[in-house]
Amino acid sequence: MKSYAVCECGAPLEAREEPTPEPTGSEVLLRVVAAGVCHSDLHFWEGTYDLGGGKQLKLSDRGMTLPLTMGHETVGEVIAFGPDVKDVKVGDRRLAYPWIGCGECKVCQRGDEQLCLKPRFLGVFRPGGYSEHLLVPHSRYLIDYGDIPPEQAAPLACSGLTAYGALRKLGGLVQTEAVVIIGAGGLGLICMSILKSLGGHGAIVLDIDPAKREAAQQAGALAAIDPNAPDAIQQVVAAANGAVWGIVDFVGSSATVRLGVDCLTKGGKLIVVGLFGGEITISTPYIPIKAMTLQGSYTGSLAELKELIDLVRGAPLPLVPVDRRPLEEANAALTDLKDGKVIGRVVLGPTV
Ligand SMILES: [Zn+2]
Ligand SMILES: [Zn+2]
Repeated sequence: MKSYAVCECGAPLEAREEPTPEPTGSEVLLRVVAAGVCHSDLHFWEGTYDLGGGKQLKLSDRGMTLPLTMGHETVGEVIAFGPDVKDVKVGDRRLAYPWIGCGECKVCQRGDEQLCLKPRFLGVFRPGGYSEHLLVPHSRYLIDYGDIPPEQAAPLACSGLTAYGALRKLGGLVQTEAVVIIGAGGLGLICMSILKSLGGHGAIVLDIDPAKREAAQQAGALAAIDPNAPDAIQQVVAAANGAVWGIVDFVGSSATVRLGVDCLTKGGKLIVVGLFGGEITISTPYIPIKAMTLQGSYTGSLAELKELIDLVRGAPLPLVPVDRRPLEEANAALTDLKDGKVIGRVVLGPTV
């Protein structure tokens, strides 16, 4: 099978021809139908996160090894499976849950495989969907996405799940209070749609780009605010009727996390999702005095992805513009994403 792999961090992906895996035991082999090209692939490709203050986190220190076939947003058609698999048949089309753990530790048993310390994430620690085929270690990671178009279903495994997982951490307050969403890029807009499907009270959206604020306004935001405005905090608090209870930060820079902390009311929650990078200082007495929750969110669990798919099957999200490209254009797709030339989502895969 042909795959496109990172062989050297930041260098162009290389086309590799390898034997197509033969599934054993509980494994399932998919023919890739749609593989989303995600912004986090840029981090995996470059191999680092910016920790602020000139420091970097190397993904190789977290167990990522090269060559790596990226691609964690994959829809595929079942073409073969091991003898232990009973719940899929050849020809079934499924979305692969990519945030797979060891499956055995307490965290995995609890259902939070995305937090396992021995991750086997597809497209990060195991080969992913930038390939003709994808081997999934167990059929329980395959989700029936019904009649959602495959190129719309694929990104739900990452961007959709990331937004959903963050909103879930705010609990029931999303129905009674406005949620502040920092960053009106793809993730922020998906978050707005999911919030609506959850019966959310509404979103106050912050973005430095006027065009993105306009897009958020058109998508039904209660308010769209420039975080660089001198009175940004006052504007946000006013739009939230005097108290900001829940914030999801899809940027995660020093400036946005700072702003988030400063906006929160007593008892409020700031969920940080974005990996832009940076660092902030917090006066520690404010943590108890404001009864503040500062929580990170990394993708979501298998159960949450199933919930999200059910939600979307019942109430389809607005379609994300999709640029479908053949697998052979994996490099161009990544470069365009890096250069900010992609509107919506690039999805790799066969055109039929
Ligand atoms: Zn585990
Ligand atoms: Zn992703």
